[in-house]
Amino acid sequence: MRELPISRRSLLAGSTALVGAGLLGAPIDRTANAKALMANMQAPAFYRFKIGALEATVVSDGPIGPLGEASTVFRGSSKEEIGTTLSDNFLGQENVVLEQNALLVNAGERLMLFDTGLGAAKVFGPNTGQLVTSLNAAGIDPKEVDAVVLTHAHPDHCWGLIGADDNPSFPNAQIYIAQADFDFWTDEAKLGQDQIKLMIEGARKTLQRLRDRIQFVKDGQEFLPGVHAMATPGHTVGHMTYLITSQSQTLCLAGDVMHHHVLSVEKPQLEFAFDTDGKQAVSTRLQLLDMLASNRVPFLTYHFPWPGIGHIAKSGGGFRYIAAPMRMVL
Ligand SMILES: [Zn+2]
Repeated sequence: MRELPISRRSLLAGSTALVGAGLLGAPIDRTANAKALMANMQAPAFYRFKIGALEATVVSDGPIGPLGEASTVFRGSSKEEIGTTLSDNFLGQENVVLEQNALLVNAGERLMLFDTGLGAAKVFGPNTGQLVTSLNAAGIDPKEVDAVVLTHAHPDHCWGLIGADDNPSFPNAQIYIAQADFDFWTDEAKLGQDQIKLMIEGARKTLQRLRDRIQFVKDGQEFLPGVHAMATPGHTVGHMTYLITSQSQTLCLAGDVMHHHVLSVEKPQLEFAFDTDGKQAVSTRLQLLDMLASNRVPFLTYHFPWPGIGHIAKSGGGFRYIAAPMRMVL
């Protein structure tokens, strides 16, 4: 096999090695030729695609993290084994960062938002709270959203219901969530539990406050046209997955059944640090992975790499994730 003209060592040694290998001409003084300032920021974070006749738009709330070393976030395997799995996929294990891919679905007569991001709270790093900015960049006024559908009541999924100005971010929206999650996370009696106190307080300030706008969804129910709820408990007691269908096309919105596109798929038995019932979450995850692979259903996951849409394939005795190609034309 022909070798690359550059070795890793020559790359590390810097550009003089590239010049020596004949890949570059004379060094260029970049500052002398600079005509534009570097933007130093990412492009607007929205991405459109179709689900049958529906127009869907993924909107980012910005990434959460860094959350820490991978084996402290994903538990149940050795640090070495987790490190090898990540390294095989060209990923480091030092500091896990997870995206936040909320989904807006325009059904013509209805504008539905699935999960809301963290709002103004900076409890998971400095880069969150971008959802309204992303919606605006996509040409959406939050006042136009008439349904907010929540997978569960964790901060990164529901705290964005209230804005930095302490007013409801989606003032005209009906809110949908499973009652089990609402009851668990707004329970005053749990304020004494140190590990979850912050999350209980946050859910009470958002969900409890907006109680009169909330409608509870049940397992198997089509609570909005073309949107079915499927109970997927474990990560939280009332965690819901949603199946969005139009013209015989279906997208599965998997919420937090999986958190990492490599670890949660190739090692689905790993428990996640914030699972309410890690064992039940594993069992639910295995069932959903099998269902997605067997039925070849595309799915969107809240925390996978942007924009978070892909398929699950069976591979050996396990599974692997194949990201869907991003299309630049609808
Ligand atoms: Zn989450």
